[in-house]
Amino acid sequence: MLVLNATYEPIHVCTVRRAVVLLLKQKAEVVEETGRLLHSAAATVTRPAVIRLVSYVKIPRDPHRRKITRRAVFARDDWTCQYCGSRTQLTVDHVVPRSKGGGSTWDNIVAACAPCNRRKGDSLPRQVGMTLARSPRTPSPEVFVQVASPTIPATWRQYLGVGPLAA
Ligand SMILES: [Zn+2]
Repeated sequence: MLVLNATYEPIHVCTVRRAVVLLLKQKAEVVEETGRLLHSAAATVTRPAVIRLVSYVKIPRDPHRRKITRRAVFARDDWTCQYCGSRTQLTVDHVVPRSKGGGSTWDNIVAACAPCNRRKGDSLPRQVGMTLARSPRTPSPEVFVQVASPTIPATWRQYLGVGPLAA
C-alpha cells in the first residue's frame, strides 16, 4: 500500500491493515483503488492501492531515521558501482574506511562492485585514483518506497515519477 503525504508526495509503504485503520479514522483518503474487494468483520470495501494522508506529515530528514540497508544503498545508487559503473558483484563500500574513522552514514556509504572494493582496500578513493560518480547523500523517500516494495504496482507509478516500463 503506497502512502502519499497531503501534498501527494510519496512517503512510505504500509500494510493493508494499517491503511484500513487510517481510512476508518479518516486520517487518510483513497486515491487509487485496486478493484479487488476487501472483507472485514464490519464491512466489505474496495481494497485501496494508494492512500493519501489528510493532513500533512513532516518527513524526518535526519539520516539516522532512515535505516541504511544494502538494498536501500543499491537502490539509491541505481544498482551501479559508484566507481566504475559495473552492475555486478555489488557490495557496500565505506568511502572513508572505517579504519580511518569513516562512519556508517548515508554520505559515507556507496554501492561498489567487489573488484573496486578490493582495489580500494583500506585507502581513500583519491589515494588509489578512484572517483565517485556522484557524492552520496540520504536517499529520497521514493527510494525507500521502492525498497519496501520489490514490485511497483502500475497504480503507484504516477506518484513515484517512474516510467511505465521501469521496475
Ligand atoms: Zn566497480
